[in-house]
This record gives sequence, C-alpha cells and structure tokens, in this order.
Amino acid sequence: MPETPVDLRSDTVTRPTPAMRRAIADAEVGDDVWGDDPTVRRLEQRTAEVLGKDAAVYMPSGTMTNQVAIRCWAEPGDEVLIADNAHVFWYEGGAPGGVSGVLCRMLPTRRGLFDAEAVSAALRPANLHFAPTKLVCVENTSNRGGGSVWPPERARAVCDRAREAGLRTHLDGARLWNATVASGASEAEHAAGFDSVSVCFSKGLGAPVGSALAGDEAVIQRARRFRKMLGGGMRQAGVIAAGALYALEHHRRRLAEDHANARRLAEAIAEMPGIDLDPATVETNIVLFEVTAMSAAELVERLAERGVLAGATGRNQIRLVTNVMVDEKGIDHAINAFADGTAG
Ligand SMILES: *Cc1c(COP(=O)(O)O)cnc(C)c1O
Repeated sequence: MPETPVDLRSDTVTRPTPAMRRAIADAEVGDDVWGDDPTVRRLEQRTAEVLGKDAAVYMPSGTMTNQVAIRCWAEPGDEVLIADNAHVFWYEGGAPGGVSGVLCRMLPTRRGLFDAEAVSAALRPANLHFAPTKLVCVENTSNRGGGSVWPPERARAVCDRAREAGLRTHLDGARLWNATVASGASEAEHAAGFDSVSVCFSKGLGAPVGSALAGDEAVIQRARRFRKMLGGGMRQAGVIAAGALYALEHHRRRLAEDHANARRLAEAIAEMPGIDLDPATVETNIVLFEVTAMSAAELVERLAERGVLAGATGRNQIRLVTNVMVDEKGIDHAINAFADGTAG
C-alpha cells in the first residue's frame, strides 16, 4: 500500500508544487477590485494572449466564469442550447436557472459532442410562444463525455452556424489545456470563433484557485460587473493568481504524461472481468467505464480498501482522472488494485 492513497477521483485534487508555492509567496499584489493587482493583470493578459482573445478576467471558480458568461449573453426567460451531459447543467448547482433565469435546452450528443446540424434542428421561428434562443455552449474537453476532444473544425462549424442564426457562443474550456495537448492544435485554434471562453487553472494545471473568462473588451467589462454582483471581486488576489500564472507558464506541456498514464491504465483494466471499457475512447486524462459484475459503489469501496480513490458517476459507471499527483508507480499500484478488486 502506498503511504497516501492514489487519488484518481479528479484532477481538482492537485496541490501546488514547491516552485509554485514560491511564486505565490513572492507575488506582487494590490487591490484587484480597483484594478491595482499587477499579478492578476499579468495573468489576465497572458490568458487572453494564449486564447487569442482581446481580454480576460480572473474569477474564483469555473462555475463562476461559466455562469457570468451566460449572464452576459442571455436575459431571464431566454434559452441556452447546451450538450445533454454539460457540466453547466449537471454540476453547477442549478445556476443557469438560479443566477440568470435561463432555460437549458439539451442537445443530444455522442460523448459530449454535437454538430452544426443539431444547432439548426433546435432553432425555432420567432414567435411569442417560444423562449428566445440566445446562446450555444460547447464543452472541450467534455467532462461527462469521458474527456473527449472537439476537433477545432467541428467547433468552428457550430460557431458559424450559431452566428448565422444570430446566437452567441460560449466555450467551457475547463480542460482546454488537455484538448490542446491531445490534438496538437493550439488553445487559440480551439477558442477561435467563440464569443467567450472559460478556462480553469485549478484542475490539471495544478494551481490552488481560479478560472478565467476571455473574450472581447466589451464582454469582459460586462463580466467584471457580474463578477462583482456575485461576490467574486477579490482584493489582493495576486496571491492566488500567482499560482495560476505559474501553472499557465509551466504546467501545460506536462499534461501529456497524464494522458499517457490514462491510456496505460485504461488498456490494463479493459482486460479485467466485469469491466466494460473501450480504451480507444480515452483521449485525454479521463477514463470512464461501466462496471458489470457489481455496483460502481462496491468497486469504489474495494479500490479504497486497496489504497486507490475513484469516483462513481452512475450506478454502474466509474470515472478515473489522472493528474500530476499520480506518477507511473501510482498507476502500477492502481492497476494491481483493480486486478485484485475485480477478481472474485
Ligand atoms: C470543473 C469544471 C468546471 C468548473 O468547476 P469549478 O469547480 O467551479 O471550478 C466547469 N466546467 C467543466 C467541464 C469542469 O470540468
């Protein structure tokens, strides 16, 4: 047994490295609500640059960046088109209804991906009976889709179709860094065509806190107002932004290791009895599979007894997320724990 469990529940369990902690300790700070924090400003500029957008704004969480974006683009009673398995709908506490008063209209997907035709099919004529459709949301990589990557041209076609219909587009890019490393296309290529883009520093990149929303100057100015309204205006936020900036500059490329670990883990456990998993579906750092011989909860418990933490995402579904806290030896240990836990 390892001293500390091999934690594959999420890439949010990542903790700051010693070098990141030094950057945090040395951060120059000011009052960011007044625009005086140089570290936050640097983080926002660098994020905008990497995403190929004019401006960005730092916020405490990805939930806040997504929900502020929705609030920027839609009014109460409006409708948002969104993947049927989207994080915005499943995991943000009912915020689209609670914060913006919008309706989520679910688009059918395969592993979180839909196409331009799905947008067209959801459009309705202007008529006072219908909720006005204002926004299309895309999630890349798709969390509940098992870390699947949107090919840039497919996302671009969705954006083009939305624009033709007078709709805005938002990209939930909490794991856009993973999509970039897996596809070889840059962050800016993945973000091209979207009116707003949300990214997380606190998942695979390993920073302790924060996300950013990027877009043109006008929407980011509007977002600053809604961030304030929701209580997300922070004072000497450079202390946490320094960790995010360090992560942005130093931790993107290493995600390839998490992807290789995920693939090796998937290939090994796909061979085990009572596991339904196609390793070809593992594109990034998420391994999603069905358990057929017992409930997901039971296997999760067996794994925990063997020093491996996993998450049940359905009665018979388990999700594993490789991350910087788990090295190759950790993956070896996890494979052994699965072999043991699935046997008899
Ligand atoms: C984690 C995540 C978010 C944001 O989550 P927070 O915990 O609020 O930072 C948004 N979208 C996706 C797809 C995510 O996986």
